[in-house]
Amino acid sequence: MNIDLHTHSYYSDGVLSPKEIINKAVNAECQFISLTDHDSLEGLAEAEKSANEFNINFIKGVEISAKHGPYSIHIVGLGINDNNKTLIHGLQQNNQFRINRAKMIGKGLQKVGIENAYKKARSLSKTKYITRTHFAQMIILEGICQNMPSVFKKYMNGNKPGAVKGEWAKSDDVVSWIHSAGGLAILAHPLRYKMTLTKLKKMISDLKEIGLDGIEIVNSFSSPDEIAKSKKIADDYELLYSCGSDFHGWPNQSIELGKIPLYDYGKKFVLNYL
Ligand code: AMP
Ligand code: MN
Ligand code: MN
Ligand code: MN
Repeated sequence: MNIDLHTHSYYSDGVLSPKEIINKAVNAECQFISLTDHDSLEGLAEAEKSANEFNINFIKGVEISAKHGPYSIHIVGLGINDNNKTLIHGLQQNNQFRINRAKMIGKGLQKVGIENAYKKARSLSKTKYITRTHFAQMIILEGICQNMPSVFKKYMNGNKPGAVKGEWAKSDDVVSWIHSAGGLAILAHPLRYKMTLTKLKKMISDLKEIGLDGIEIVNSFSSPDEIAKSKKIADDYELLYSCGSDFHGWPNQSIELGKIPLYDYGKKFVLNYL
């Protein structure tokens, strides 16, 4: 059974429409699909309508940027009510920062000779949403870098010219918005944060205290070792298991929607609690 609980459309930093996401899910023979755009609920109604036409189970999701101490992390909300005022209002806060940050990124890149960066990145988005992915893709299209990891390393992370410290909502607020909207709060891609295992465990233990429900244990290219490591963390802190490709659909990315390593999740699989 193919299940994908982490995907992006052009209502954040993906390329496809929500309808096209559902089409992909049908072609990939997914039984369950969730759309989890960054800080955005805008694609959910279209995706749900399309999923109903195809008779595929659709789970309303969102991937929310959050600040946890010095770290910027991503918390996925699954099974959320997208009409919930607390959640909608909270996401507006993050999106206000997104717009300001995009202009600051543009100015930073200008300083190293990338002209009109904001305008060029904007033009790569089919919607009002602008993310660092749009800047990164623009830098690749300009022939300045070859691939996404190298752009992030050279231009977008740490103290690089296009890096801006994340002023996202606090993790405890994010978890409470998700719960207000009736969803489950899942830490996205736990092994992708640049922190030691000790710090990661401390963070997950703190997040559990504030109500985190689960963590992703399988993403697109998770190795058996990585899955075992994430599962152990989930078990140690009594958290549910989730999974998803984190599909974005840019032509230079190899992730495919619905294609993640097969895994027998058992009783603690998040789908059993949605
Ligand atoms: P933002 O939410 O605007 O900060 O953009 C973050 C997005 O950039 C993530 O969701 C990823 O899609 C993408 N991203 C971040 N770091 C990398 C990386 N090293 N390689 C490829 N994509 C990345
Ligand atoms: Mn993304
Ligand atoms: Mn993420
Ligand atoms: Mn994602």
